[in-house]
Amino acid sequence: MNSVKKLIAGNWKMNGSLESNTTLLKSILDGDTRADACDAVVCVPSVYLSQINSLIQDAASSRVRLGAQDLSAHEKGAYTGEISVSMLKEFGVSFVIVGHSERRQFHHETDQLVAIKAERALGAGVTPIVCVGETQEEREAGLTEVIVKRQLAAVIHLVGHCISEIVVAYEPVWAIGTGLTATPEQAQSVHAVLRAQLNAAAGDVAQRIRILYGGSMNASNAKSLLTQPDIDGGLIGGASLKALDFLSIIACA
Ligand code: PEP
Repeated sequence: MNSVKKLIAGNWKMNGSLESNTTLLKSILDGDTRADACDAVVCVPSVYLSQINSLIQDAASSRVRLGAQDLSAHEKGAYTGEISVSMLKEFGVSFVIVGHSERRQFHHETDQLVAIKAERALGAGVTPIVCVGETQEEREAGLTEVIVKRQLAAVIHLVGHCISEIVVAYEPVWAIGTGLTATPEQAQSVHAVLRAQLNAAAGDVAQRIRILYGGSMNASNAKSLLTQPDIDGGLIGGASLKALDFLSIIACA
């Protein structure tokens, strides 16, 4: 069993409103009383970073940290619609998701672009949560290992010795938002592959890299996933929008 502190990250995706965010976050902050057990982060739409940052700051002693869902590969300039890492930092962001499958699929993000974004985040002291994962077709073709290793290799290649500062999220695309979850054994076997790849790249320090599982994790299946030796936390979509479910997953960790 890896001994790093677990991380539970909520990905709100494109959901929320000023009103519902306040209700959701306050319920999470009020219910979250065992602050030492694991780390927690909520990755919210960019327009709500300021709001959520203020709510977190107002809570006297919260472990909940603020995350973004994407960042620009560029530092600044003529990139209409994009948001730089230094802008995210001004709003208290300490984690950022990069290479989520929805960005790879709908915004055509390549392994190389994802690696540049991870490097950009690290350069500013923001922790990238690097998502990797295979599609249903790729799994059926026996390509799971090849795909996740290729996606992670691009990041390892670019960020070099800083690799120990990243968080990895294994998110099988076929399990995201579908209600289908990888079995604990399926997830563990891919996590072991990723751990071995990180060990080969970074040696001992790789042991402290957290590898999260994501894909329809919920209050009922969290425990069996989070007790696998190489599963160091979760990246949670749908269930992170319900305070009680998110808190139950945190409690499992
Ligand atoms: C995600 O979007 O990262 C995710 C894991 O979603 P869900 O939990 O809804 O499958």
